[in-house]
Amino acid sequence: MAHIVVLGAGTGGMPAAYELREILGDGHDITVINERDYFQFVPSNPWLAVGWRKRADITFDIDRYLSRKNIKFIAGRCSRLDPDNSTLELENGQTINYDYLMVTTGPKLFFDEVPGAGPHGGHTHSVCTVDHAELLWADYQKLLDKGSGHIVVGAMPFASCFGPAYEFAFIVDSDLRKRKIRHKFKMTYVSSEPYIGHLGLAGVGDSRGMLEHELRNHHIDWIVNARTTRVEAGKLFVDELAEDKQVKKQHEIAFDLAMMLPAFKGVDAVAGVEGLCNPRGFVIVDELHRSPRWKNIYSAGVCIAIPPVDATPVPTGAPKTGYMIESMVTSAVHNIADELAGKEPHTTGTWNTICLADFGDTGAAFVALPQLPPRNVAWFKKGKWVHMAKIAFEKYFIRKMKKGSSEPFYEKSILKMMGITRI
Ligand SMILES: Cc1cc2nc3c(=O)[nH]c(=O)nc-3n(C[C@H](O)[C@H](O)[C@H](O)COP(=O)(O)OP(=O)(O)OC[C@H]3O[C@@H](n4cnc5c(N)ncnc54)[C@H](O)[C@@H]3O)c2cc1C
Repeated sequence: MAHIVVLGAGTGGMPAAYELREILGDGHDITVINERDYFQFVPSNPWLAVGWRKRADITFDIDRYLSRKNIKFIAGRCSRLDPDNSTLELENGQTINYDYLMVTTGPKLFFDEVPGAGPHGGHTHSVCTVDHAELLWADYQKLLDKGSGHIVVGAMPFASCFGPAYEFAFIVDSDLRKRKIRHKFKMTYVSSEPYIGHLGLAGVGDSRGMLEHELRNHHIDWIVNARTTRVEAGKLFVDELAEDKQVKKQHEIAFDLAMMLPAFKGVDAVAGVEGLCNPRGFVIVDELHRSPRWKNIYSAGVCIAIPPVDATPVPTGAPKTGYMIESMVTSAVHNIADELAGKEPHTTGTWNTICLADFGDTGAAFVALPQLPPRNVAWFKKGKWVHMAKIAFEKYFIRKMKKGSSEPFYEKSILKMMGITRI
């Protein structure tokens, strides 16, 4: 009997645990370790930040649901990984042995990249966690009470996840319109992307044309190639770069509320292992999602190393989106199962991407097959149906994670008909 440990119970780790149990049956032990005892549905955080959701709507107790599938859960932060001895240490001093480790630790939110940034001791907000979204909601309410101001939304240098920045800008715009006070607020989108709609993906379909059009239509100004250098209370300092990386213009942007997505790095426990990660702490994996150096370590999700899609004047990274992460997970799980069955692992993920971006009352959907160009399919479509679909997806994913099923047969069949598969 082998012991498989899944480190991190987020969008990647939860499905990984369920898929492992499904494919392996009850013949092996599975343990999930997560620093918090609750699961959070990260894509709903922008809604929580404007009061459209409460914490209880988008979080649930992990142990209650994993235990139903005979999966052990430990709530605790891993402080050290020792791959040579196949052990990991928790902050409380507990040592856990594993035969196989699946690293799904997501990102370290690296606010320190820009002095003065971040919600803890800095001057910018984030929607990356439920806690951050709640802090933003508190300050957004204060701004609503004030009745007017300048709202800055965007992404810092080295950011890789731009979708939620666009979402938050349009959601705030929509919320202010619903309150009939949009005309009292100035809004500016400030991003390290080289152009609007780049998304860390060198664009998808006509994402550039469509998102520029949307920002104009919603009276949101923008600055791209923006290297935010520091933040002071109520002021963002930005170098706008030209193609040749020279500073084209310097901006001092006074704001009342700023939500700036940070750079991502690998989390300390994983990044600290020499030979496991790239210089920014992301786990190096081969096409099987396995560490080339430690063959019993697999990894999936935001924590893996993938190169940027293109070189941009201000550094940006490639996003890892939900379906792409599930594709990585399914690939890694099949390979662990093969190894346990004494077979050669051979399953690779498609990294296909389907994404629903909510704009408050409408939205944009994109499909990129595969996520990284050159692509076989790339389309980007806008419509009210996307807003409805995103709400439905939220309910669907949370239900899936409570029921313990990663890819129900109907999901698999429908997506297969559309030519979208995980592996
Ligand atoms: C605000 C936001 C909105 C997004 N919206 C979408 C969307 O609409 N569609 C889409 O496709 N993608 C979206 N994404 C991108 C992506 O799908 C999410 O970031 C997703 O949550 C990443 O999954 P993950 O499993 O890699 O990491 P996470 O979901 O962040 O999970 C990592 C888990 O590991 C835990 N952990 C970390 N370190 C340790 C440690 N040392 N010990 C123990 N536990 C640890 C964390 O607490 C966390 O629970 C969004 C991202 C953000 C930030």
